[in-house]
This record gives sequence, C-alpha cells and structure tokens, in this order.
Amino acid sequence: MASIFTRIVEGEIPSYKIAENKDFYAFLDINPLAKGHTLVIPKKEVDYIFDMEDPLYKELFLFAKKVGKAIETVIPCKRMGLIVFGLDVPHAHIHLIPINKSSDMSFDSPKLSLKNEEFLEIAAKINQAFKESS
Ligand code: AMP
Repeated sequence: MASIFTRIVEGEIPSYKIAENKDFYAFLDINPLAKGHTLVIPKKEVDYIFDMEDPLYKELFLFAKKVGKAIETVIPCKRMGLIVFGLDVPHAHIHLIPINKSSDMSFDSPKLSLKNEEFLEIAAKINQAFKESS
C-alpha cells in the first residue's frame, strides 16, 4: 500500500505544498514544532533514508538546503534545524525546523496549533521565496 506521503505527492491527500521538482516534494508538517516546519521527501517511496541510492540521497539534501533557505527568508530564525526520524511514516523524509535554541528541536514539546489560513499563508510565502531563489 502506498505511504501517506506518496498519496500526498499524487494529490490524493491534500498538503500545504512548499516546493517540488521531478524527484522531490516539500510540504508543511501538519503538527509543526514551529511556523514553517517542513518535510522534504523523495517522490520515490523508500522507507529508510539510508536505503536511498547515493545520487538521490545527495540530491535530497541539496533540495532540502534550497527549501531551508527559502523558509529562512520568511520565518526569522537563528538556524534551520534538520532532523530525520521516520519512526511514524515509513517514507523517507527530512524535517526542516526554524530554530533559535536547541530545545526548539524537541519533539517532546507541544506542537503548534495553526489554522488552515495560517498554514496556507505560510506555505504561499515560502513557495514564493523558493520560486524567487530558483
Ligand atoms: P516521523 O515519521 O517520526 O518523522 O514523523 C512523521 C511526521 O509527519 C510528523 O511530524 C507528522 O506530523 C507528519 N505528518 C504525518 N502526516 C502528515 C500529513 N498528512 N501532512 C503533513 N505532515 C504529516
């Protein structure tokens, strides 16, 4: 069965899209630790990120870098945190989280509860920044 993220890529399940190219897709995490918390995934479904072929693995991180830089232009932060868990969704993904201190990366912290309009506004701004940088 296709992963929930494959279903997002295929448009079966809606997402707050940030960026896309032929191999990768980026969208807002629906349980964000911070405004702009984004997931970057390969379109080709692979569960464990270390099982990705090296060229695609490298490209995934380069794509995540571009997306992270676009997020930074919209969400002021000291750094862009990158983390990989993949314990819940068996489809490789990088979390990009705008942070100001290390505890901002803690997944034990309460998640933000954002309204649909807020997600849409953040996604639109980051999407614009990404397009302008490409
Ligand atoms: P993990 O697999 O442990 O890295 O966690 C999966 C992440 O995917 C969590 O942060 C979820 O909030 C996020 N997530 C799950 N389903 C969706 C969805 N439909 N849209 C956006 N984010 C999702």
